[in-house]
Amino acid sequence: MSKIAIIGSGFSGLSCAAILAKDGHEVTIYEKNKVLGGRARQFQESGFTFDMGPSWYWMPDVFERFFNRFDRKVEDYFKLQKLDPGFQIIFSQDDEMIVPEKWESILEMFEKIEKGSARKLEKFMSEAKFRYDFGVTKLVYEPGLSLKELFKKDIITNIFKLQMFTSYRKHVASYFKNQKIKALMEFPVLFLGTAPSDTPALYSLMAYSGIKNGTFYPEGGFGKVIDGFVKLCKELSVNFEPNVNVNKINIEGNIAKSIDTSRGIFRFDKIIASADYSHVDGKLLPNKYSNYSNNYWQKRTFSPSALLFYLGVNKKLNKLQHHNLFFDEEIDKHIDEIYKDPEWPSNPLFYACCPSKTDKSVAPSDKENLFLLMPIAAGIQDNLELREKYFNIMMYRLERYCQEEIIQHIEYKRSYCVNDFKNDYNAYKGNAYGLANTLSQTANLKPKIINKKINNLFYTGQLTVPGPGVPPAIISGQVVADYILKS
Ligand SMILES: Cc1cc2nc3c(=O)[nH]c(=O)nc-3n(C[C@H](O)[C@H](O)[C@H](O)COP(=O)(O)OP(=O)(O)OC[C@H]3O[C@@H](n4cnc5c(N)ncnc54)[C@H](O)[C@@H]3O)c2cc1C
Repeated sequence: MSKIAIIGSGFSGLSCAAILAKDGHEVTIYEKNKVLGGRARQFQESGFTFDMGPSWYWMPDVFERFFNRFDRKVEDYFKLQKLDPGFQIIFSQDDEMIVPEKWESILEMFEKIEKGSARKLEKFMSEAKFRYDFGVTKLVYEPGLSLKELFKKDIITNIFKLQMFTSYRKHVASYFKNQKIKALMEFPVLFLGTAPSDTPALYSLMAYSGIKNGTFYPEGGFGKVIDGFVKLCKELSVNFEPNVNVNKINIEGNIAKSIDTSRGIFRFDKIIASADYSHVDGKLLPNKYSNYSNNYWQKRTFSPSALLFYLGVNKKLNKLQHHNLFFDEEIDKHIDEIYKDPEWPSNPLFYACCPSKTDKSVAPSDKENLFLLMPIAAGIQDNLELREKYFNIMMYRLERYCQEEIIQHIEYKRSYCVNDFKNDYNAYKGNAYGLANTLSQTANLKPKIINKKINNLFYTGQLTVPGPGVPPAIISGQVVADYILKS
């Protein structure tokens, strides 16, 4: 039995803790914030319950497989609902694409927009299903430490089917012509924190998950998923130390001996960092022990940061669905302003989530819980004036689409942006969800889960394998725990 410290209580830290505790280790999670859950925290205000980060529950099999490892089921911890419609894309004031839950209805919708596209969609999804089954059950559970992992017989045999070297944008364009269909098919890979043109076609698995498998909603919001993970951890005797900042990892020789925290120094046999990798490597460790230099991080492509608004609205908004994507401006311009020439966008796309459409518990009756998310380049300037400028831009388009006044009906408003990501999570440049999944930042090319000089220090989370998003963070925790248990 080892004494293990985990820094950070996001999904990766929690999943890692549960597996190590099940194996009999004494695990303690240190979290700098008062509330557990990292980027997936919730807060309550004026009768509203806001999820601070994730709102799209995709890849339900990843969550199920995780709980099955403990002979438990997802439904033992939280209740899922499949959304119908899954989401809508708004192309202009009076032109939206409402994506139904049923597969047959999606096929009908495609055929109406572009003749012959239903058959193509079937083919696209059958190939994407292969990539999903292969990728999400095999590839993503590899620790990314040895090239041998990539030269396994089944990977070599299927290398062309996996489409690692074609861009996702080209892949979609080889199937569909209609711009709206292309926008729908490209949207799921935006979750990977990169542009569709820089994403390997392997990631059509995201479209399979989001469009074919559908969008789920955990009742009570994503915070209930965190509560479920915390409950499981507590059942397995994991200790929690919220509101404790880890300031330093103390090293002797090539061994991490203890962590220096805001509540004192504590000794451990092993330390797992699930806080942002660059923060641990650059700030918590003496320089000579860092895996990567400042220069390395500067050269990485980070996922976007985001400007977020949590709004309580004192009336119902009839035209909104649960998930609403405002694609009523040019997407490529906005993408360039995130990755190529980082600056505040000229005409941003944004996302409006209205979970009170599905869930009465997240807003008082006759009111709406509204969450706005506008992706922006990581590291750009952030101040209240800029936040307000873009709030007005988003509200103008929201009101125009809903055809009603909303601003005067906002009774609660909180913004969140680059500086908050830095302060709350120690996020490099205020990134929202880690490193982008470009080809040169995939699998073995991600930052490593082991420290090259310290034998008992490990890294997990969205900046290492397999990447950004809640399901990958859950997998990341498992990958590191399994690696420790095997070594
Ligand atoms: C706005 C937003 C929307 C998103 N939407 C979705 C979505 O719809 N679907 C989806 O699947 N994913 C989504 N994601 C991504 C997803 O939330 C993340 O990939 C995932 O939650 C990351 O988990 P993690 O454990 O790697 O990191 P985190 O959740 O960031 O956990 C790291 C923890 O470490 C703590 N920490 C940092 N430094 C220290 C220190 N020195 N001492 C102690 N603790 C420390 C932090 O406070 C944090 O709690 C979204 C993310 C954001 C921000």
